[in-house]
Amino acid sequence: MANAEWIEKSKALFMTTYGRYPAVMVEGRGCLLKDADGREYLDCLAGIAVCSLGHCHPAITEAICRQASTLVHVSNLYHTMPQTELAELLINHSFADRVFLANSGAEANEAAIKLARKASPEGKYEIISLAGSFHGRTLATVAATGQSKFHQGFEPLPQGFLHAPFDDIVALEAMITPETCAILCEPLQGEGGVRPLSPEYLVAIRQLCDKHDLLLIFDEIQVGMGRTGTLFAYEQCGVIPDILTLAKALGNGLPIGAMLATESVAKAFEPGSHASTFGGNPVACAAAVTVLRLMLAEGFLGEVRNKGFYLAERLTGLAAKYPAIASPARGLGLIQGLPLAEAWVDQGPAMVNRLFEKGVLLNFAGGKVLRCLPPLIISRVEIDQLIQALDEIFAELSQ
Ligand SMILES: *Cc1c(COP(=O)(O)O)cnc(C)c1O
Repeated sequence: MANAEWIEKSKALFMTTYGRYPAVMVEGRGCLLKDADGREYLDCLAGIAVCSLGHCHPAITEAICRQASTLVHVSNLYHTMPQTELAELLINHSFADRVFLANSGAEANEAAIKLARKASPEGKYEIISLAGSFHGRTLATVAATGQSKFHQGFEPLPQGFLHAPFDDIVALEAMITPETCAILCEPLQGEGGVRPLSPEYLVAIRQLCDKHDLLLIFDEIQVGMGRTGTLFAYEQCGVIPDILTLAKALGNGLPIGAMLATESVAKAFEPGSHASTFGGNPVACAAAVTVLRLMLAEGFLGEVRNKGFYLAERLTGLAAKYPAIASPARGLGLIQGLPLAEAWVDQGPAMVNRLFEKGVLLNFAGGKVLRCLPPLIISRVEIDQLIQALDEIFAELSQ
């Protein structure tokens, strides 16, 4: 009953931006969530790649509580220790020399767009991103997003954003003009349907940037922070960007984003160039410091890679069992997508609903892929539970 009452009450209160599943979540632990009716769910979405260390990880909860009872906010007019600790960890474990802290993914990308323009010679302002990409919902990041469904109704969008076809280096080079300042891409598209860019293509993009004197911005908001089995996805293709954006899993649920860059690019920002009242909030930073320490602990990322192989293998096994419904899994580490056959894509949302009814949370991305983004701490037994639920649903559907 509790679910129904709260859902009914909420109907009149919110702007109708979200289509939600009928559950009021009240508690989380590890990979499990509990709703107001006491039903349990196996969370294979982790709040959209956010709660990578699981819900209410004790060490993170402790860091949040400790910081919340010490100092919550002072603005960026002053220094705080958690901020500096976080920046040091990010820099020591990435290519970057300097960090700007924000509160969300879109804000991290906004900062990246502003830095790319400011760091480029006058008259160079165009940014090329890719078809199918997702970079956020603010006006500039929505303009950078390569999916027109996110643009509709919001025109005129900020100028200077072009979209190149996916994985086509010749077409990308043809779009470069004397006004181009940067190429922005996700090493693996998340919202676009778990579509990895080939390592060769990423290498070729880096070469294009060097040849035409462009900045390379990687949006690792979804695939950074251990998701692919290395701390950052770029480590796997060996391509070093000039600017990197992070958010989602950085705070394991507390809102925080980061924009990282090399010294030569970062120096374009002067005092007053950019700012955020809440950015680098001490409580969010204390959480993020703990997240990084846990992810960098011996063996953690290796386990993510191993479990990623296991999940991919089990999903691909399902595709082999139901070849009319799904094709082999694609992804990297613990972001894995199961593409549905053309004849079944219309059933995608219904499949996700059936899974929800069975107590398993997953979503449908890019209009054709069942997307798994479990907490990185998921066990093999829990992966088996997900596969079992999918197997039952595919069996029901193919009758
Ligand atoms: C989620 C996401 C964003 C936007 O992050 P918000 O925190 O929702 O603003 C940007 N880029 C990518 C790749 C994302 O997955």
